[in-house]
Amino acid sequence: MEQILVVNCGSSSLKFAIMDGSESPPLMEGIAERLGSEHSIITFKYDGKKHEQPLHENDHRGAVTAIKNWIDQHSDLDIKLVGIGHRVVHGGELFTKSVVINKDVLQGIEECSQFAPLHNPAHVKGIKESQALFGDLPQVAVFDTAFHQTLAADQYLYPIPMRLYREHHFRKYGFHGTSYRFIEQKLASLDETYGQQNTLVAHLGNGASVCAIRAGKSVDTSMGITPLEGLMMGTRSGSLDPSLLAFISDAEHITMKQALDILNKESGLKGISEISNDCRSIETAQAAGDDRAELALNMFASKAAKHLAAVATNLDSVEHIVFTGGIGENSPVIRSKICDRLKMMGIRLDQHANQMCPRGEISRISKQSSSAFAWVIPTNEELLIAQDTLALINRPETEQHR
Ligand code: AMP
Repeated sequence: MEQILVVNCGSSSLKFAIMDGSESPPLMEGIAERLGSEHSIITFKYDGKKHEQPLHENDHRGAVTAIKNWIDQHSDLDIKLVGIGHRVVHGGELFTKSVVINKDVLQGIEECSQFAPLHNPAHVKGIKESQALFGDLPQVAVFDTAFHQTLAADQYLYPIPMRLYREHHFRKYGFHGTSYRFIEQKLASLDETYGQQNTLVAHLGNGASVCAIRAGKSVDTSMGITPLEGLMMGTRSGSLDPSLLAFISDAEHITMKQALDILNKESGLKGISEISNDCRSIETAQAAGDDRAELALNMFASKAAKHLAAVATNLDSVEHIVFTGGIGENSPVIRSKICDRLKMMGIRLDQHANQMCPRGEISRISKQSSSAFAWVIPTNEELLIAQDTLALINRPETEQHR
């Protein structure tokens, strides 16, 4: 069977998986971590076992080399790699769908680095190292932003001088697009009348956002020019009065960039709970009576509900509401708190179904009387990247442009 290597490069990590484009679990998956440090390691998960080894060449090249060596050492598995699919965070206005990577595409990804200065340069490194080590294997870029390129101007523009958009492309881009597209396709496969329906999706993980989908197209989403806008997240504040940035910088005698770091890395669930950015740990603390944990969870749910209601203003009706991401898929407490705040939309949760829904499976968690179906649908961005890659390399001649 033909397989795809799915690669997700961060600045100090590289996640990977070998997949055949079907729902079956990856043949092998893993992560290289602490790249650039003395203690970089790579972990391979295969056949139910984990194998960890130090990375002697402790950069992206070292990680890709280790993956290639692993494949070479497992010739008995009959792995037939036909392409490599790369997750790319920012595609700006250049990329409205997944594309086969060529010189122009690589340059375009580099150009988009201005809005994703940590991620896009890492993606470029990963792509170049994969090209060097895997020779002629075709490579495809799948963008987090692409699904939201269907937003209308009245949604993607910030109400700031138009000149800033014209000259600098300052606008809302939105993220988690691959996850939203996966969910949208999944819903369509569950319900053949789905085509023209309207859906709200809450992707709630360490990063969190919401999206309104009308007839298969994103019409609004909560993240902006960067993933900082919108919901309260694990460590990100989400939307707030931008004046705060200047106040924090003045009061703490730090630069704007350092103040921005506080909003990106020290805020959200972590900032409020003063326990952790991890929802599970906060739920445990709440159950033990910790007030700040309770406050953090209530704020998280309240912001999520507020943004769901806000993006819903772009829909004529809501037929489905979907929860996904680590928190959305696994936290009945958060789902219940959010739906409680969406009663005015007629959404009614079946509390038993909400509590009991099995991990990793699709579940309907709304009551019969609910105005919209509420669902838990596990997302699988890697699978969509593998599927896009397979689809594009099988008809590359029409898709080589950017
Ligand atoms: P993600 O970024 O999508 O991997 O999601 C990570 C988040 O999901 C973390 O905040 C985890 O604590 C949260 N999470 C995972 N499992 C659970 C669970 N059983 N209950 C609550 N939160 C969970």
